[in-house]
Amino acid sequence: MKEIAIYGKGGIGKSMLASNISAALAVQGRKVLQIGCDPKHDSTRLLMHGQRITTVLDYIRDTAMLDQKPDDILFHGFAGTGCIEAGGPKPGVGCAGRGIITAFELLDRFHIKESYDTVLYDVLGDVVCGGFAVPIRREYANEIFIVTSGEYMSIYAANNILRGIANYDTDTPRIAGVIYNSRNVSGELERVRKFADAVSLPVFASVPRSEAFAECERENMTLIEASHQSPDSTADIFRDIAKRIIEGTPHYSASPLTDEELESLIMGTVFYENSEDATADKSSIDQAGQPAGASMLAPEPDVSSAAGSRKNAALADLLSKNVIRDEPLHGCAFNGAVCMSVHIRDAMVLMHSPKSCAYISWQTVSSTGRRALYERGTLLPSSLLPAMEATDMDESDMVFGGTDKLFDKVQEILARKDSPKALIVVSACPAGIIGDDIDRVKALSTPDRPVITVKADGNLSGDYLQGMLMAYTSLAEQIIDPAVKREPDTVNIVFEKVVIKNAESNFSVVRSFLDAMGIKVNCRFLYNTTYESVRRFCSADLNLLAYKDYTGNILERFFTEKYGSEFFDMQFPVGYEETEEWIRGIAEHFGKHEQAEKLISENSEKYFDRIKELRPVLSGKKLFIVTYNHELDWILRAALDCGMEIVKIGILNFSQDEGFRTSIPEAADIDVVEDYDPEQRVHDIEQLKPDIILGNYTTEKIEHKAIFDTIPMCPDVGFFSGLDLVERWSGLVETGTEGEWREDRKLFDKYYA
Ligand code: SF4
Repeated sequence: MKEIAIYGKGGIGKSMLASNISAALAVQGRKVLQIGCDPKHDSTRLLMHGQRITTVLDYIRDTAMLDQKPDDILFHGFAGTGCIEAGGPKPGVGCAGRGIITAFELLDRFHIKESYDTVLYDVLGDVVCGGFAVPIRREYANEIFIVTSGEYMSIYAANNILRGIANYDTDTPRIAGVIYNSRNVSGELERVRKFADAVSLPVFASVPRSEAFAECERENMTLIEASHQSPDSTADIFRDIAKRIIEGTPHYSASPLTDEELESLIMGTVFYENSEDATADKSSIDQAGQPAGASMLAPEPDVSSAAGSRKNAALADLLSKNVIRDEPLHGCAFNGAVCMSVHIRDAMVLMHSPKSCAYISWQTVSSTGRRALYERGTLLPSSLLPAMEATDMDESDMVFGGTDKLFDKVQEILARKDSPKALIVVSACPAGIIGDDIDRVKALSTPDRPVITVKADGNLSGDYLQGMLMAYTSLAEQIIDPAVKREPDTVNIVFEKVVIKNAESNFSVVRSFLDAMGIKVNCRFLYNTTYESVRRFCSADLNLLAYKDYTGNILERFFTEKYGSEFFDMQFPVGYEETEEWIRGIAEHFGKHEQAEKLISENSEKYFDRIKELRPVLSGKKLFIVTYNHELDWILRAALDCGMEIVKIGILNFSQDEGFRTSIPEAADIDVVEDYDPEQRVHDIEQLKPDIILGNYTTEKIEHKAIFDTIPMCPDVGFFSGLDLVERWSGLVETGTEGEWREDRKLFDKYYA
């Protein structure tokens, strides 16, 4: 089977040529199928005598898969030619290239081509993206013609098409030549010949500009058909093309020019890279039909480079480490953004995504809830039937664009009786790939039902953390009212980690301290919060970071720069000493010294009462620690207060944190090994014979009997974080369960269940 691709810039008469070639081939006895691959879908109009036929893509969109039949998209035109139009989206939406791929998949599924001996693809060559390049893939075209006029942009497109072909052709040449279609522009034949010579292709045929074409357009027929009634010499050109195609014609390889070579060849200009002289010699531009002085190829001056670099610097401040370091992505930005947005519990998250992406995010949100239920017997409101819906983008939306569907869905949600306080639209990869502008739906906002967008675009933007950052900043910018005045004795809590199991209990501890000092919490940004509390973010006189790590620091900088927010300089306190310092610091800011001292003294009493009870059991016990945690004062303080001996600390460094940090004076006497070799642990255990081994991971089988316990990466906050851990060892020592740590189930049943 002969499969011929005819590529050329849109609007230069390519479909007219293709239809006449098809007609001429059919008249000479070939069974011809013409497939129009241009969203304009008028390739076969002359063969069909003006009838606009159903396009494949419209058909796929409107017809259920099981109802689809080949006869619904295959039409029959002049001389029995088969006619198919791929179709495509409206300009400015969707992805026409993806449309070509989708249409070809259906044609292959129906085996339509098998009834023909010649297939002719009429393809738009302005953009040779992966979709429009499908016909030049090896499994399709085995002969390619490039149509061009003598206008510069037409030749530019022809050269781009050659580049596309060069990407696919490695061995067998497939290009039959250039078909020159005259536009009556001065000097154009010379330019086409120069171009053809430069890319080592023959000018296969020259089609003059003729009134006969306009006449045929009016009559809705090809020149070949019309010439049956009144012979025309131009029709003979197509008969000759058809004859040579049938007889077989030599093929050539693609040897495209660089942009500079093309400009120099066609415009006669000298290319000066980054030079003020770049527009110096453009004498032939007018002749080529371009405006004088306008270079199509010279690089545009970077007049905004200073602003650009500032923008990049600002952007870098809001990037996750994965994205900055170009590391493998952990999760996707869509998922991260959804999982944060859902924490505004009176809003609804509308995922502009396929079902599969929505399912993954729903699982992430609800599984956090299920785990909380299992471990703590509680369920976050955001995890209990999370307010999430999706537009369920499908193949049609990828082709035609998904914004219409998004508009419909947003309107439908806002019209509900129980519509949410706000609607947060988050975009997934497919929406980003086809360029759906989700911001347009903000126009549907009403004063009491705002529509907010997070253009996460899945992994196009980055990883889960990047999505979190995008949600934090986008939601803040669209919801926070900067005009809200600060209120006395009010704080926001910023950056509680949504996936850790002690987030809620840690908040309870912190709130109990704040309550005792008469300080109220306005907003938990973003954890189990409300739209109104986020809107009133600026009412907080002070902001308390739950975690002062990479992300916490980004958020602090963001809020400080954007809203002039004031942040307390400590994160949530872990252990006795930090908690004491944290409470005093807060009290200092709000003038709550009396309440703070009362709080500290009450807890100090409890702390030392408990230490008194533990000392007899733990005093003299040897503790060995190997950990990724680099701040251990909360454990060391409690262990030392109980009289334990810390025999060694092995610090495991990793990309996000390095170096052991302590403010406990007695720690100076402890053997601390930085960059500890995990292989050394078994040996150290045998040597040091610790009573308690503390780490983040279980160890190989060790003969030495000891209690093994793990250090949580996100410890409990408050006075008793270390003490609770130490108390657990005391329980194990007292019950003589050394060594039983290997039997997790037994321990779990005994102490947790
Ligand atoms: S990476 Fe893209 S396709 Fe995959 S779940 Fe995320 S948004 Fe969906």
